[in-house]
Order: sequence, then C-alpha cells, then structure tokens
Amino acid sequence: STGLMAGKRGLIMGLANDKSIAWGIAKTLADHGAELAFSYQGEALKKRVEPLAASLGKPRLYECDVASEDSMDALFAWLEAEWGTIDFVVHAIGFSDKNELRGRYVETSRANFLMSMDISVYSFTAVCQRASKIMTKGGSLLTLTYYGAEKVMPHYNVMGLCKAALEASVKYIAEDLGKDGIRVNAISAGPIKTLAASGIGDFRYIMKWNELNSPLRRNVTQEEVGKAALYLISDLGSGTTGENLHVDAGYHVVGMKAVDAPDI
Ligand code: NAD
Repeated sequence: STGLMAGKRGLIMGLANDKSIAWGIAKTLADHGAELAFSYQGEALKKRVEPLAASLGKPRLYECDVASEDSMDALFAWLEAEWGTIDFVVHAIGFSDKNELRGRYVETSRANFLMSMDISVYSFTAVCQRASKIMTKGGSLLTLTYYGAEKVMPHYNVMGLCKAALEASVKYIAEDLGKDGIRVNAISAGPIKTLAASGIGDFRYIMKWNELNSPLRRNVTQEEVGKAALYLISDLGSGTTGENLHVDAGYHVVGMKAVDAPDI
C-alpha cells in the first residue's frame, strides 16, 4: 500500500460478486487507503455484496437501480448525508438482453436498443450530473468500456454501439466538468470472465482469441484493471481526462499477428 488514496472517499457502482471488475477496482483502491461506499442492484444481491464490502472496512451499501431517476436521487442524497462530499465514483455497469448478444446486430429490437442505451450509457451521465455536485474539491469519475466500441467483435452487437456512445460521453463530460477540477475517464478492459460477460455469445472463444493474439499473449485480470483505475482515480492521473485507457494486454494495437507465412 502506498497511501495514494488516503483521505479519499468514493462510490463503487456495479459490484455483483467477487468476479466483478468493480471488485478488482474496490480492493485496489481500499488497499491504497480509500474509504468506499457501494451501490448494488436489487435486494437479492445484498447478501453477496455485504460481506465483500465489510472485508474492506466499514460497510456502506445502498440499493440503486440506475434506470430510475428517483433511485439515483436517493443514492446521492444518502451519500451526501453520509460524507458531505466525495472524491470519486467508479461506474462498472452495463446491461442488455442476452438474446440480442448473439447472432446478427442488424436484428436488434428497438425496445432492447433503448433499454441497453439507458442502462449502459445514460446512467453514466446521470451519475456524473449528481456526483459533480458533491465534488467540491475536484474529483475523478471512471467508467468501463470495451474494444467492441471501436471495431466489430462477434456477438457484442448493441453493446458495441452502447460502448461507442459511452466513450463519446466520457469526452463531452470531461470538457463540461474539467473547469471544476473533475476528471472523467474510461478503462477499456480486455475480456474477463464475469457474470455480465457470460451473457455474450461464444465468450470463451473470444477470451481464447485474445489470449492467442494480444501482444502479451494472455488475458488481463480484475486486479490489473484495478491498478489502472488507481492511476486514473488517484493523484497519479492528475493530468489525464477524457482518456480511454486500454487494459487489454495490448490487443487493440494488433492488426495482424506475425505468423510463418504460407507460400502463396
Ligand atoms: P458484472 O456482472 O460483475 O457487473 C455488471 C454490474 O452491472 C452488476 O453489478 C449489475 O448489478 C449492474 N447492473 C446492471 N443493470 C443495472 C441497473 N439497472 N442498475 C444498477 N446496476 C445494474 O460484470 P463486469 O464484467 O464486471 O461488468 C462491469 C463493467 O465492465 C460493464 O460496464 C461491462 O460492460 C464492462 N466490461 C466488461 C468486460 C468483461 O469482459 N467482463 C470487458 C470490458 C468492459
């Protein structure tokens, strides 16, 4: 531990279980001295999330469905009552009907398109709106994205469009809040086996492909995403905003891996 996050308080959104990317980030931030609060979706998750939160300090948990304005208002009112001000928020939330995360994108329904955009894109803007009002000493806002925003990946479909819009919103919000000393960034994580990822068609094959074709020839871990989050959230990242930091074993730079070329 470095004490890099000593005296800093923040909210972690999107913890479902100990495989969640939110958990890799929470552990790292707590290790370096941060005080954490957690929001989780639905009372059913509480019994799983509570012991995890308790293992990192005084458990502060609040139920919040990001699809509801009232629920978001209540979450930030609770945070303000608890702490007055906050220093950071981690948004590790995305959702789409898994029946539309396979097959052809072109078949996507209007209803699922709108729902996916609402939960996976708008919710980050809704978080930034509210969080910035209680970040009186500046702050750092972080979301999670994926390479399927930049290039076509099999089965990612409507989530690819969502992540593209999310990445654009990071840039717009970075400009809006920069004057107040609030930084806004994304981490583009390589494929990691989590609850959300298991809804994506052929996910095991996508992980294998990344392992075989990324420059580091392996996949990344929740802890590696946590270390990058520590950089972006702590003072180490004080000069960085509007950024999309790839933590993907370098996969995004590869056009084609070198192989022994066949005679053609
Ligand atoms: P996860 O299933 O552990 O986390 C997803 C979280 O979103 C869950 O905690 C779930 O409760 C929450 N959520 C969904 N709908 C919600 C709602 N309406 N209100 C509140 N919370 C809601 O999976 P994860 O892979 O850790 O996902 C975290 C983020 O990382 C997502 O944005 C995901 O797209 C992104 N990401 C994941 C990968 C990967 O391979 N796992 C790669 C790149 C980016």
